[in-house]
Amino acid sequence: MGNLAKTNQEWKKKLSAEKYHIMREKGTEQPFSGQYTDFDERGVYVCGSCGNELFESDNKFKSECGWPSFDDILSSDAVNIVTDSSFNMKRNEVVCSNCDGHLGHVFPDGPKETTGLRYCINSVSLDFKPKNN
Ligand code: FE
Repeated sequence: MGNLAKTNQEWKKKLSAEKYHIMREKGTEQPFSGQYTDFDERGVYVCGSCGNELFESDNKFKSECGWPSFDDILSSDAVNIVTDSSFNMKRNEVVCSNCDGHLGHVFPDGPKETTGLRYCINSVSLDFKPKNN
C-alpha cells in the first residue's frame, strides 16, 4: 500500500462523521464508550480508514483508562509517532503510517514486564479482523 494522499473532502466522503472527526481532526472518543475498550477476541486490529494492520490482540491489555490499550505495535512500520503539543501537554501522537490517520497517543506507563508502553487508541480509529484458528 502506498501513501493515501486524500483531500479532506475525499476523507469526508469516505468516513463517517465520527471517524472523520477523530481520524482527520484528531478528536478523542469519550472514555469507556468505544466498542473495543472491553473486548478480548483474538485477531488483528487494522486502521479504521485504510485497513493497514496495526495491533494484535496478543498485545492488548486491560488498562482501566477507558480506551483500547496495547503494549506494542504489530510491526515497527505500522505507525508513526508525532510530537503533539496541543492542550499545553507534550504527548506522542500515534498515526497510521499508511494514511496518516490519527489513532491515539502512546504513554510510558504500560506494563513494566513487557515494553512499558501504553498505546492508547480510539476504538473509532480501529477495525477488527478475527483470527480463525
Ligand atoms: Fe490508515
